[in-house]
Parts: sequence; structure tokens; C-alpha cells
Amino acid sequence: MTEGEFDIIQRYFTASKRVPRKDVLLSVGDDCAVTELNPNQHLAITTDTMVENVHFLPNIRPADLAYKAVACNLSDLAAMGAEPAWISLALTLPKIDHDWLAEFSESFFDILDHYNVDLIGGDTTKGPLSVTITAQGIMAKNKCLCRHHAKVGDWIYVSGTLGDSAAGLSFLLQGKSAVNSAQEYLIRRHLHPTPRVLLGMELAMTGFVNAAVDISDGLVADLGHILTRSQCGAVIELDKLPLSPQLIDEFGAEQAEQFALSGGEDYELCFTVPDSHKAKLEKALAHLGISYTCVGQIRHAGKKRIQFQRNGQPVEIVTHGGFDHFK
Ligand code: ADP
Ligand code: MG
Repeated sequence: MTEGEFDIIQRYFTASKRVPRKDVLLSVGDDCAVTELNPNQHLAITTDTMVENVHFLPNIRPADLAYKAVACNLSDLAAMGAEPAWISLALTLPKIDHDWLAEFSESFFDILDHYNVDLIGGDTTKGPLSVTITAQGIMAKNKCLCRHHAKVGDWIYVSGTLGDSAAGLSFLLQGKSAVNSAQEYLIRRHLHPTPRVLLGMELAMTGFVNAAVDISDGLVADLGHILTRSQCGAVIELDKLPLSPQLIDEFGAEQAEQFALSGGEDYELCFTVPDSHKAKLEKALAHLGISYTCVGQIRHAGKKRIQFQRNGQPVEIVTHGGFDHFK
């Protein structure tokens, strides 16, 4: 099997033989690290890098780049249920372009203001364009959502709709601009994903959720992280996948399903809920006004980590594993 980014992290950067500091509550392997902040609160910390030609196309508008770089970090905080608080920005620029920087920084502070987050530091260097952000957020003690507590029988939920972002990207990769409102919507979902911050905080506060992850690399890959860390399997009901009408109109049901399962960068949340909390959770989410869908259930780990069903019947489908930088 080809080595991927997770093999590298596991082999070189997972400090299994080291004795961790007592104030590190969760280390490498989840959406954020968690450390003790004070007797009542924990701190969630995450870092994400965006590199030109890897995470974004060279012609991206600086406003879109700034928005998305912040949004994908806030999405990792949301996956832990943390309230965003501080951000550091490491920016590498090929040259000084004041127009570019003015647009970038205006959009950057717009999204920071929206979520009441402060820029507290960073680094500025010359080189190929890349943006690295470290985001930190606060959680009530022991209220953190994590990947490793899913239990057999939990229902699997996702927020919003899946696959839109990958569909939007496919237009951009073909160098096409939108010719109708559906295409506009899909491209916007790619460039302006909504980090599910309030949803994550609500899920953490209610305590109804056993495990959560944000969907940055596709449902199959990211649910896969929950399954690996929780040592279980899952069934996904394909006919339950939440697909936007715009996605189906533009690509048809079959391609839409592939985008939903394996396309990246939706930045929706996937979370697992024990049966005893299902009704209470759905009531809480209805109050919040965020759309959510139950797409399957956690099972014992079997030969296949994820089984797929359509209309209650097992089906075999081929999915792509999700994005990996080295595969
Ligand atoms: P996400 O997609 O949620 O941002 P990643 O897939 O990028 O998470 O990373 C998986 C886990 O590995 C995270 O806990 C991340 O902090 C950790 N990680 C990634 N690269 C490194 C590294 N070079 N050193 C230590 N930890 C790392
Ligand atoms: Mg994540």
C-alpha cells in the first residue's frame, strides 16, 4: 500500500514512547489537541496549511483565500465543540502586492469579527504562496467532542448537505465560471464553506454526542477516522445522504453520491449519537435551525469497515479513499 500522510504522522510524530505532560489531555490524532486552560476550561488547538496549487488555484481571489483559510481552522474547533478565540497567521508571499494584501486582510478580519476571534500573532516570509493558521478555542471542562468515543449502536449524523464543495471545485478546475444559479451555489460552497461553530458548541454542551469529526476529506475518510479511533465499523444508508438539489440537477444522482462520499472540503460535521439521546438531540438541533440527517449507524468492526445499504439492502460500491497529500 502506498504510504500516506497518516503513515508519516504515525511513524514520526506520534510520541507513543514519550511520557506526555499532565496538562495535555488529547494529542495527535483528533481534529484539535486539547490542553488544560484553567480548573474549569480546556483549550482546543489546531493548525492547517493552505498551499497554492495544492489547496487552492493560483487565480483565487485573496478575499476567498483568507476566508477559507480561517473557515477550515474554525471547522476543526467546531468538531471539538470549542468556542473560537484566538488565531495566529503565518503567511508566505512571493512578493509584496498591496492591492492583494488589502483585500486579503479585509476579508480575514471580516470572518474573525464575525466569530469574535482575535489575530494574536504569526509570521511573514517570502516564498511560494501559502497560508498557515493556528486557531485556539475554549471549551467547558470535560465537554469536548472527540473521535474515539463512538459506540456500537450509535446513530451517525451529518450536518447540511454533502458533496457540494467537490462539485464546485470540479467547475473551477475546468476553468469554467458559473452559467446558472446552481453552479454559482456549488462554487460558493467550495470557496465559502460555513464552519459549523454553533452546532459544534451545542453538541458539546448537550452531552448527547459520543464522537464527532469535521468532514474535510469526504464522509468515508472522515467517518473512517472515528471508526479507527473508536475501533468499530459502520453502515451508511446511501439513500439517506443529504444531497442539495443544485448538486443533483448539475451532476445527476450517481455522481452526486460519489461527491458526497469521497469529495472533500464540505466542512460539515459528522457525529454519533446513542439511541437513548436521539430524540433529545433532534429536538435541540431543531431549535438551533441547522439541518441534520441521520445517515447510518455504528456497528461492530467487520471485514469491511463501512458497509453500504440502499433501501435497507446491502450494496457494493467503489469509493475513493478521500484526499491524501502523498497518495
Ligand atoms: P484535520 O484534517 O482534522 O485538520 P489532519 O488530517 O490534518 O487533521 O491531521 C490528523 C492529526 O494529525 C491531527 O491531530 C493533527 O494535529 C496531527 N498532525 C498532522 N501533522 C502533524 C505533524 N507533522 N506533527 C504532529 N501532529 C500532526
Ligand atoms: Mg478536522
